[in-house]
Amino acid sequence: MHCAICGARFEGDIDHVRVEAEHIRTSDPNGVREYAFHAECWDRLSEGWMDPA
Ligand SMILES: [Zn+2]
Repeated sequence: MHCAICGARFEGDIDHVRVEAEHIRTSDPNGVREYAFHAECWDRLSEGWMDPA
């Protein structure tokens, strides 16, 4: 899988975060996408959201 934040490839046996995002589109009824992030990248992103500098 690939990290959706930094784009780097990684294996599923390291610390990571997965998020399911459902895209509601009439043309794509099965539009559930799964995103994976490095735990580190996720933490950085979460910090950025909570504390915009
Ligand atoms: Zn990453």
